[in-house]
Amino acid sequence: MRTAEIRTRWLDYFAKHDHEIVPSASLVSPDPSILFTIAGMVPFIPYIVGTEKAPWPRAASVQKCIRTNDIDNVGKTTRHGTFFQMNGNFSFGDYFKDGAVDLAWELLTGSQADGGYGLDGDRLWVTIWDQDAEALDALTRVGVDPAHIVRLPREENFWDTGQPGPAGPCAEFHYDRGPQYGPDAVGGTVDPGGDRYLEIWNLVFDQFLRGEGRGKDYPLLGELEHKSIDTGLGLERVAYLLQGKENMYEIDEVFPVVSAAEELSGKTYTLGANSQAADDVRMRVVADHVRSALMLIGDGVRPANDGRGYVLRRLIRRAVRSMRLLGVDEATLPVLLPISKDAMKASYPELETDFARISQVAYEEEEAFRRTLAAGTTILDTAVAKAKKTSSAAPVLAGAEAFALHDTYGFPIDLTLEMAAEHGVSVDETGFRSLMDDQRQRARADALAKKTGHVDTSLYADLRQRLDGPVQFLGYTDATAEA
Ligand code: ATP
Ligand code: MG
Ligand code: MG
Ligand code: MG
Repeated sequence: MRTAEIRTRWLDYFAKHDHEIVPSASLVSPDPSILFTIAGMVPFIPYIVGTEKAPWPRAASVQKCIRTNDIDNVGKTTRHGTFFQMNGNFSFGDYFKDGAVDLAWELLTGSQADGGYGLDGDRLWVTIWDQDAEALDALTRVGVDPAHIVRLPREENFWDTGQPGPAGPCAEFHYDRGPQYGPDAVGGTVDPGGDRYLEIWNLVFDQFLRGEGRGKDYPLLGELEHKSIDTGLGLERVAYLLQGKENMYEIDEVFPVVSAAEELSGKTYTLGANSQAADDVRMRVVADHVRSALMLIGDGVRPANDGRGYVLRRLIRRAVRSMRLLGVDEATLPVLLPISKDAMKASYPELETDFARISQVAYEEEEAFRRTLAAGTTILDTAVAKAKKTSSAAPVLAGAEAFALHDTYGFPIDLTLEMAAEHGVSVDETGFRSLMDDQRQRARADALAKKTGHVDTSLYADLRQRLDGPVQFLGYTDATAEA
């Protein structure tokens, strides 16, 4: 079953069950406290938290999501993408646990001829909160094998917003892919993050009012008057189950880019096994990042040195560098991006109509990066060789060299870190940072001296904070990851 069809089946199913079908919100989060839309519930937060009244009692969507926290997993766990789609159904004071469990079970196990996904119910496992007797009842009633219901403490299976307000237990559906992916869950312990018991669908029961407390250590003050349901199913994960594929990079919406990377590089991707060979991981990174860049630019994000634009820039750069590590030095986005667009356009026809603009942004960024690489790579190689000469056991690239690469050749520090790491060389980051600070202070002092004739040092702290904040937040998340 094509991914686009799994998507429309979802929407048709919930429309049939009286849900308002709400189009995906932009990847640029409608909630200003986060950069990107990270889950299907994000556009519905005011209705779930209760600050606004929902216009409908039930809703369903397929939401485009970006999770930068998963960037290190990409290509390695093979079930995490930076971009993915989250199918969601929501009840705002309407149906609760019983209704949500009924709907989930019927859709997952209902026959494909009747609009369901046709998964084998005997292979479904569900994790619940260990105090949630209602969830246990509802799940056994629909037919989940009681031996497959795993009770977990609040730390593992409880949703909240991090502050006093609504909170509640989750029930997470996992699909057992079989013993070739890992050990049996003997004694009822599912590995909730594993490849064998693949997490596919999280049902959140927004049930309680919680009080003050750290982490998950807070009192439950009572039941909410208006309880909500918020669920999220990973579309790509269900797609690889239904397409009989090994992982999310091998489904119809992603694999064409892997194939193109194979063709461009003349290397062969290891199909049908979660190979961790460097080239296989690189091809998955390429396929993931090209798709994420396509979708982000589609939603209006442009490459920049901070915030969302910096994430986009890093995605494009990692894709380009991964292709270079696969041995392709020419520009590759003009081949890869249209292929990704063609794989996605059944669900997102606007990608086709907007492609002239999208591709221009992407190709210009690739060209700019290629110029940066051309200018700095030889310098970096020389610095690496020097570091190795100085110490063969634990070679360190000097902070001054990293600073020169940044200052003269536009090499961001994370790129220097990544490229040096590929040669087994670490970087004196402290030295680099102190030189950066010196430079900022000098620039600031110069500007001030020009303006006022004297130097006010109290401004440095504030300036440093402003300059360091966003860069540190996003820039070093995958500094140790392979490009
Ligand atoms: P995991 O434990 O696998 O990282 P999660 O618990 O972080 O997933 P949820 O926040 O519960 O994920 O999101 C709901 C569903 O979205 C998950 O059950 C999964 O199917 C899917 N999902 C989450 N993160 C990703 C991702 N990075 N790529 C693809 N699908 C994802
Ligand atoms: Mg996760
Ligand atoms: Mg999880
Ligand atoms: Mg989860």
